[in-house]
Formats: sequence, structure tokens, C-alpha cells
Amino acid sequence: MYSCGPTVYDYQHIGHMRRYVGDDILVRVLKANKYNVHHVLNITDVGHLVSDSDTGEDKMEKGAKKFGLSVWDIAKKFEAQFKDSCKLLNITLPQDLMHATDYIPEQIELIKKLEEKGFTYTTKDGIYYDTSKFPDYFKLSRQNPEDLRAGMRVEMGEKKNVSDFALWKFSPSGEKRQMEWESPWGIGFPGWHIECSAMSMKALGPHFDIHTGGIDHISIHHTNEIAQSEAATGETFANYWIHHAFLTVEGQKMSKSLGNFYTVEDVKAKGFDPMALRYLYLQTHYRQEMNFTWESLEAAQTALGKLRRYYLESREGEAMLPVEFEDAINDDLNIAKALATVWEHIGNLTKSDFTKIDEVLGLKLATYHEVEIEIPAAVRELVEQREEARKNRDFARSDELRDQIASHGFDVMDTPSGQQLRPASK
Ligand code: AMP
Ligand code: ZN
Repeated sequence: MYSCGPTVYDYQHIGHMRRYVGDDILVRVLKANKYNVHHVLNITDVGHLVSDSDTGEDKMEKGAKKFGLSVWDIAKKFEAQFKDSCKLLNITLPQDLMHATDYIPEQIELIKKLEEKGFTYTTKDGIYYDTSKFPDYFKLSRQNPEDLRAGMRVEMGEKKNVSDFALWKFSPSGEKRQMEWESPWGIGFPGWHIECSAMSMKALGPHFDIHTGGIDHISIHHTNEIAQSEAATGETFANYWIHHAFLTVEGQKMSKSLGNFYTVEDVKAKGFDPMALRYLYLQTHYRQEMNFTWESLEAAQTALGKLRRYYLESREGEAMLPVEFEDAINDDLNIAKALATVWEHIGNLTKSDFTKIDEVLGLKLATYHEVEIEIPAAVRELVEQREEARKNRDFARSDELRDQIASHGFDVMDTPSGQQLRPASK
């Protein structure tokens, strides 16, 4: 199984992370069905241009400028942030994590093969793939080439067909890029799509089972991966394609300018358990757009808390979980339905059921231990006083009391269901 991974030029937000939780669920479901899974995830650290029509800046170089770091440091910084988010969400990272910059020779070899077979041509800015030479170019996206032509009259440059794409881009003359390599065609860098063909072939061979990505990858990135790989090897590339739908926040696209851009770390800083976010993701089918709201996260946190309590109070004993659970997870990953089955039978479930459920859902139920924290009387007193101040809308006093509570080592959060205490994070 090959998954297109993050382009490490900026923060991975909760939209990106929905995808990786989706892939993690798929792997877990396959394993629950006793499949041996070889999962590969790539890290795009070069070559992904801002525009899908092979123009504009390299995302990495753009990110480097934005954060005032070198491209290599940007890649390191955001790969670490991605891995931290995965850890918080209990996503098992694949054994093979492949960086595009580690496989430049393989990408060059693949382009050479395509050149030998007559699929390429040269323009002043790079080596391009001639999509008219590949029959069935639109088989994945089922796009009508005429529509594509009508929609894209610009940015053709010297391209022969609208759908043609760059395999290798030349470094602009007189400009030193931070990331560039020698090649038979001149100094430059690979196009974005070629890395996934080269690395999946390297790790899994020319023909493998499952390829995953975001829904936006269908029409260009994955279509191009198929064209490159199948033209080079003559074999079917991947048997199955899984495409995850997007996440919106309060009905809007997430963006920094709208102030609705959140990372998993942000969610945690607002006092939520990242596992509640994972629980929330599981409620929407992977092919359906999901709308994130703070209220829905709150509800997910409450549900997760209940689930944990049921787990803690469950007895040992033989499995009681009905087969509907398995049927649901195997029905195109209908996790929401599987969860509904769990709730329907919750009072009967045993420890071994929870272990099984958790293998698939990854909510860390089976390892959950409630930590009873002793709240000192002095703190309880302050919380009560603050409750009074809040009732009287005396916010200055309420803030003062918050500081006093903090000096005792507790953070207080105001939630719709009242004040909540937790030990201060440091
Ligand atoms: P970006 O880092 O913004 O270029 O996004 C990289 C990939 O992450 C995209 O190609 C999508 O597949 C996925 N992605 C970006 N934004 C979202 C979102 N809001 N919800 C789900 N997936 C997303
Ligand atoms: Zn890819």
C-alpha cells in the first residue's frame, strides 16, 4: 500500500490529519482481516510547484522564504510537526517513510526509460510527458478531455497538450536554487508526480495493491502517476485507489486568513484530548466531506469519555461483540456504523471486545487508565469563588482567581458545561 504523504513546507492541519487517520484505519482493518500490510508513505520535500500546471514557485522554496529558514530546515521542521501530529492521533507510521530527495537517481532513471520509449519531449523549461501518447490517460478521473481544454486556456507555455506535465524542470538560468541536481538533461529538479512512481516501484515493485491520497489527487497527480508508471513498465500500476474527502471548518475552507486554521497541537492547547478528534473523524465516512465544529468536537470528547468509562467498568469474559461490527468495517470502511454497533451493545461488551474494537479504531481504550487527581481543598474553594464571580459577570475577579488557581498548578477552562480543571501542562 502506497500513500501520498505530506509536502513538508508548512504546518499539517486537521484537514491533512483526517486523511492520515483514514489511511491508518484502512491499515488496521486490513490487519484485522489477517492481511500482512507493507505500507509506504512518502514525504515530498522537493518539486511540488504551487500550481498543478507545473508553473509557479516550488512549495518548499516558498515555505523556506516564509519562515526564514533553508529548504532543508523547513523540510525537517514540518516533518517533525507531521510526526508529532501522528503521534497525538495514535497513527501508526509506516515502516517505510521515503523522502523524495533520497531517490533522485531512481526518478532520473524512470524519466530516462520514458524518454527511450518516446513518451517525452523537451521545452525550454523542462522535460515533459506527452499524454497524447498514453491511451486511456483519463481512465482514473473519467474526465472529458474537451472540458479540460475548455477550462484551461492559460499556462500552456510550450506544452503540446493541456494535460502534459513536467518530469524534470530546469533550474531557471542565472538563479541558484537551494535544491537542484545534475541530470542528463541539465541541472534542475524532478516534477512532483515522478517521485511517487519511482518510490512506489522501488519499495513495492511495478504492480501493487492499494494506492491512497486526497480526493484532489485524482484528476492530476494520480492520473499522472498512472501514465508514467504504466508507460514505463507496461503493467497495471495499482489495483485499488482510495481517495479521502476534505474537511471544512464551520462550513468553510480552512485558511490562515479566515482564522480557522487548526493543527492537532492547537486542538490540544484548547483543552481537548487529541483522541476526541480521532473519534470525531471516525464518525464521517472517508468519501464524505466532513464539517468540523467545536461543538461536534465537544460532543466527541463526551462520547469518548463515556466509552472509556464503559471500558474501565467492563468485565473479563468471552467476546460479545456481534458480527455487525466486522461487517461494517469491511463494508468500504463504514466506521460510523461499526461505532453505532458498539454503542448498541455497550453494556454487554467485555474487555476482550474492547481490545478488538481498539485494534481497529485506535482510540487507545484498552490502555486507558483513569488517573484520579487529588484536587486540594484550597483550589476547590477558589473554583467555587470563581463560579460566583462568573455568575455576577465580574470578569476581572474571575481572571484574578484563574491566576490564583494557576499558582496552585491547575489550569481552569471554561466550557459550556462549566469550569473544568486539569493539571497545568508544565
Ligand atoms: P497542501 O499541503 O495544502 O498542499 O495539501 C496537501 C494535500 O493534503 C492535498 O493535496 C490534500 O489531499 C490534503 N488536504 C489539504 N487540505 C485538506 C483539507 N482541508 N481536508 C482534507 N485534506 C486536505
Ligand atoms: Zn503521490
